[in-house]
Amino acid sequence: MMKLAVLGSTGSIGSQTLDVVSRDPGRYEITGLAAGTNVGLLLEQAKRWKPKVVSVATKELAEQIRIDLPPGTRVAYGEQGLIEVAAESGADFAMCALIGSVGLKSTLAAIDAGVSIGLANKETLVTAGHIVMKRAADKGVAIYPIDSEHSAIFQCLNGEDRRAVKRLILTASGGSFRDRTRDELASVTVEDALKHPNWSMGAKITIDSATMVNKGLEVIEAHWLFDLPYDKIEVVLHPESIVHSMVEFADTSVIAQLGNPDMRVPIQYALTYPQRQPSPASPLDLVKAGALHFREMNFARYPCLRMAYEAGRAGGTAPTVFNAANEVAVARFLKGEIPFLAIETIIERLLAKHVATADPDLDAILDVDAQTRAEAAALK
Ligand code: MG
Repeated sequence: MMKLAVLGSTGSIGSQTLDVVSRDPGRYEITGLAAGTNVGLLLEQAKRWKPKVVSVATKELAEQIRIDLPPGTRVAYGEQGLIEVAAESGADFAMCALIGSVGLKSTLAAIDAGVSIGLANKETLVTAGHIVMKRAADKGVAIYPIDSEHSAIFQCLNGEDRRAVKRLILTASGGSFRDRTRDELASVTVEDALKHPNWSMGAKITIDSATMVNKGLEVIEAHWLFDLPYDKIEVVLHPESIVHSMVEFADTSVIAQLGNPDMRVPIQYALTYPQRQPSPASPLDLVKAGALHFREMNFARYPCLRMAYEAGRAGGTAPTVFNAANEVAVARFLKGEIPFLAIETIIERLLAKHVATADPDLDAILDVDAQTRAEAAALK
């Protein structure tokens, strides 16, 4: 039986993880659940799964739910709460599905405790890939990708000699605005941006798909997960989101992983690896799909992807700036404070003035992260 902790349990990936678990409950024991402020849903989940520990964002929220928790479930809060759920709940697998760089310390704590990681929180690798991957290698801890693209690549690489990999080809749907010109982007609304054509996801990642920041984060994530230089990681537009990504090998063979867009497939694969189990996802009907389209990525149309490659190649603290500037800019766009295109100008301005530190330690990363956030919040 897998002992599973879910960080970000009330979010999109966390909820879908518990959905996967609920279809084969004999296989799993939930040891810990961590949420932010959605205490209503967390309480429902706690009553159903009776974890040893749950965690919420603040002490006040912890006090608020304490009385309603099932007997045997204790409540923690804040960063220490995340660490308790990840590393001290008795889990042997932690689904790390927090949003943003808040997931970093708890992921490292889980690795230190020898807990296998399902990594849905891409910002963790973007900001601290050099630390996380080295720590995991030192501890012999496996990191299973949850992102659909990286799960696809992970599946394509199964049993292959890594030295024969010529390049990774990540697919990008193009997000909510793929058919609009840059001129048309100037006046788009939050509501428009939240309508993703293929995937049903949280608000932050849906905006990140529209700006192509999401693909940029994924390129950096792929660099760390698969230990390949940026020259070997490419992005192609694929509006149908059926080919989740591909690997080209030395002999020109290309192996792809296909399926209808449904995050429960990569989630389940990470949980049951190397086995494959039946899934609630709808089977792929290629005849019905009829045609699959691929278009060259246009970096002028999607400058955030260009900036992600630049930040990735610069390395050190540059990806932290890219990520932190974006997180704040997206939050401000969602609040109606800034127009859509200001997301990219905020990232561009903060990256331009940043002098990257090579091989930063965790404190240096957190300093740059905090400083970038403050600056991104103040930029007009
Ligand atoms: Mg993805």
